[in-house]
Amino acid sequence: MNHSLVNQQFLSFIVCLFLIFVSTAARAEDSYAAQRTAMITAIEADVRAGYGNLESDDLNEKVIKALAKVPRHEFVPENLQYAAYENRPLPIGHGQTISQPYIVAIMTNLLQVGKNDRVLEIGTGSGYQIAVLAELVDKAYSIEIIEPLGKQAKNLLHRLGYNNIALKVGDGYYGWEEHAPFDAIMVTAAASHIPPPLIKQLKPGGRMVVPVGSRFMVQELLLVQKSEKGEVSTRQLLPVAFVPLTGEH
Ligand code: SAM
Repeated sequence: MNHSLVNQQFLSFIVCLFLIFVSTAARAEDSYAAQRTAMITAIEADVRAGYGNLESDDLNEKVIKALAKVPRHEFVPENLQYAAYENRPLPIGHGQTISQPYIVAIMTNLLQVGKNDRVLEIGTGSGYQIAVLAELVDKAYSIEIIEPLGKQAKNLLHRLGYNNIALKVGDGYYGWEEHAPFDAIMVTAAASHIPPPLIKQLKPGGRMVVPVGSRFMVQELLLVQKSEKGEVSTRQLLPVAFVPLTGEH
């Protein structure tokens, strides 16, 4: 057999392997896209069922688009990827969880963010919620208290190309003074009270969603609004179950 025939056969083999790899990856992506669509259908059914005292029976179209885009399977441990699009929270290590998709959807919807808004999340966890918010605004900020989770989320969000997210490791109870004020703040861990530094860092006209209540019991999701004059009002939305907001405060 001459050399050029061997080279040609080898080249064909490599091309075949490459095509098999590309088509397998494309099939997996299609399957995840279908699962994301099913997840959104389940969320919309929950929203229409009207649990709690939410402001609307519909999710904003932009929120739905963001949920349809963010690859939730990338944010869960590999052995749980099969369940990434089920409408339930999942463990992410260090005793923490990635929130239920329905909760992510309604909390995002309640903030009513616009493209130019500056948004702060407390409790980065896996990074999924801040990725959803980053689809909606130009600049998003998030704070995580557990260092390995913060580092892991940073690497993942960088790999996925989210370059409009700033992350830091620290106690989110105190907010992020140097980037304040924020148009919207979301707290994704349960506090015993609304953290005063976060109220201070909310812009007039701004909104905050925060679960408040005792540790390891059912808490109440609150919507906090600051009027243009700086008056603060709160409204109870629905019972929720979040891991506690930890830290020295
Ligand atoms: N938003 C996350 C996601 O999309 O995966 C899920 C958040 S998980 C329910 C709550 C997170 O808040 C945990 O990662 C926890 O370590 C973090 N946390 C708890 N207390 C905190 C604090 N004082 N400051 C910042 N993060 C805190």
